[in-house]
Amino acid sequence: PSYDSVKVAVRVRPFSKREKDASSKCVISMKTNCTTICDPKNVGNEKTFKFDLAYWSHSEYLKNTESTLVPDGSYSRYADQKTVFQDLGQGILDNAWQGYNATLLAYGQTGSGKSYSMIGYGTNRGIIPLVCEELFRAIENNQEKNKQYQVTFSMLEIYNEQVTDLLSKTKKSGGLKVREDQHQGFYVDGLKLVPCESYAQIERLIEQGKKIRTTASTSMNASSSRSHMVITIQFKQILLKEDITKQSSINLVDLAGSERQKSSASEGDRLREGTCVNLSLTTLGNVISALAEAAMGKKVLHIPYRDSVLTKLLQSALGGNSRTVMIAAISPADICYEETLSTLRYAERAKKIKNKAIINAGPTE
Ligand code: ADP
Ligand code: MG
Repeated sequence: PSYDSVKVAVRVRPFSKREKDASSKCVISMKTNCTTICDPKNVGNEKTFKFDLAYWSHSEYLKNTESTLVPDGSYSRYADQKTVFQDLGQGILDNAWQGYNATLLAYGQTGSGKSYSMIGYGTNRGIIPLVCEELFRAIENNQEKNKQYQVTFSMLEIYNEQVTDLLSKTKKSGGLKVREDQHQGFYVDGLKLVPCESYAQIERLIEQGKKIRTTASTSMNASSSRSHMVITIQFKQILLKEDITKQSSINLVDLAGSERQKSSASEGDRLREGTCVNLSLTTLGNVISALAEAAMGKKVLHIPYRDSVLTKLLQSALGGNSRTVMIAAISPADICYEETLSTLRYAERAKKIKNKAIINAGPTE
């Protein structure tokens, strides 16, 4: 097995309308792979985080202007969807062709740009569509007589610790059950795995899934802010002559907003929701912390994967058989300082995790 760390990328988005209306100042600057955040209440108090990548998607250029509190002479160009795909998505695909599992997680507060990076909006397609398109392009270009390819697609949502199949029109009350299998680990019983022949088909499935995503009426951005979305692409290569099958699972995860849940409502669904969303994200945090400590040589007796649905499904992605990438999505604005700092700290812990990915290949069944 090859041991490698979780790869972490930070991406900062443009000001939102709300931030512009509040005449927000930008507290983020970037230089090569370093991200610096400046405390708006205490200018001069800066913290710099070094990750694998830092994406400046705030403005066309990073300049030292009046709207930037952080003094920085460097000029970075706006990092667009294609740039992010080429750095992160292409690597995931290369791994998948070799038979490695791969996981991409988007973390950050609501409105920080997770869905923009993962799925995208309109013509600004995100990593998921671009990865799928490129996968089928590569399959086209690698047609061989003794080789077969199989791609399946699934899309689910975790909300209130319940799993909903986003590709199934009949909603099961109580949600789908997560079960454990000795060989394949945790899986969702009854989840639709749709065999796909083309990118166009996947594009339709994503559209379909987006429509089904839960819409509970909370304050803002209700549908996606409190639920986790997990898309899984299973890619199989069947080598007929050798009688060998190579396979890779690609998990693409748009996490719920990382902001602390406010106890705005006090009863029924809202309350349960608050606790449960916390449960999956809190457990993810606990798993990441435990793994980070283990990677630093501390004796860790227990990794609490079983404490939430999300961590059960991501078990192999976290400290297991997967190459894992995290995008930490952040706001540039001073008013989001605390949340942004906490996102960067979270990513810093994730960075410490070591995975041991192995090639999944064996006799064709
Ligand atoms: P999240 O999924 O984290 O809640 P979104 O991805 O929906 O946040 O982003 C919030 C808003 O910011 C959207 O209107 C989106 O178009 C915009 N946005 C996010 N990231 C970028 C980016 N890198 N470039 C341009 N606009 C962005
Ligand atoms: Mg979103």
